[in-house]
Amino acid sequence: METEKDNKKPTIAILHTGGTIASKVDYKTGGVIARFTPEEILEMFPELKEIANIKSKLIANMFSEDIRFKHYSLMCKAVEEEIKNNVDGIILTHGTDTIGYSAAALSFALENLNVPVILVGSQRSSDRGSSDAAMNLICAAKFISKTDFAGAAICMHENTSDDSCLIMPACKTRKLHTSRRDAFKVVNGKPIARVSYKTGKIEFLKKDYEKKEKGRKLIVKDKFEEKVAILKTHPNMFPEQFEFYKSYEGLVIEGTGLGQAPVGTPNEISKIHAKNLEAIKKIIKNGCVVVMASQCIFGRVQMHVYSDAIDLANAGVIPGGDMLAETAFIKLAWLLGNYKKDEAKEMVGKNLRGELNERILADEFLDNDTYS
Ligand code: GLU
Repeated sequence: METEKDNKKPTIAILHTGGTIASKVDYKTGGVIARFTPEEILEMFPELKEIANIKSKLIANMFSEDIRFKHYSLMCKAVEEEIKNNVDGIILTHGTDTIGYSAAALSFALENLNVPVILVGSQRSSDRGSSDAAMNLICAAKFISKTDFAGAAICMHENTSDDSCLIMPACKTRKLHTSRRDAFKVVNGKPIARVSYKTGKIEFLKKDYEKKEKGRKLIVKDKFEEKVAILKTHPNMFPEQFEFYKSYEGLVIEGTGLGQAPVGTPNEISKIHAKNLEAIKKIIKNGCVVVMASQCIFGRVQMHVYSDAIDLANAGVIPGGDMLAETAFIKLAWLLGNYKKDEAKEMVGKNLRGELNERILADEFLDNDTYS
């Protein structure tokens, strides 16, 4: 569907995939199930039409926990089509639970992106008084219409007030709270920009952001290797848990601290851990590319400090630097889908889309000035 075109305004395509932002409470059951159509969403947020010419299209109507890699290809195709139609930017509405994975997937798959592709979700459904849907959508539309930013990013509430949204980098943003409207935080990086809801003022917090550039041509690489997984380590692991991945092409181990997994044998009780190491060696020998991320979320893995990590690195486990485990998972699936295995292994540790700080930067954590 398309609104009447005003040539003075930019054109934004809103691509819907579902999630809470497209849901309303079903008062018969009390559950959040019924879904809005793109037309209903536009009717609910008439301010959008004041900011831009809006085209709206349904890709899917689903909760984001059901998304599979093939949906990423559908999203890429829809974005590509809108870019061919010369839109100034794209808003992709999405469930918040896996929006970070999709943002990373689009960021890798859409090389040389020359328009903003802003993923927007909401924590509370659009028919509730406390819904964040309108503000998140409007801030994304204002950001697209007023700036020269190009690339994929996420737009969500900055804090518990209704004053501002943050535009956050696609590969470095994580949902850190189940229900708060400001659940999304940038990990090991800075938000790109702050958008004031009331005044529409945009403040870039990252000066070296990616800008639109004349003549840049989109390259779509939308293949993702299906047999890739994340394994979170925990106390009391058994070799079968690692062996399970022997037929997989890629595995991200979410290890402890600086990048350890239970492969040490400090005493009789932990003797079985020698078999864990053997199992990891076996899956690597079978051709599975194994990458280490940290379940600490913030910080980076450093696999030369503790003996367990040194043994893992010697076995061929590749350190994932300061990548989020979720981003490392998407990157690995994308690399294995589009490159030869040796190239893919080389590229894990290279920064391609802002997913990895190759050098150690000043420590950015939630309580310092990252968000001030
Ligand atoms: N679990 C659903 C999803 O991620 C609803 C949550 C939401 O959209 O915030 O799609």
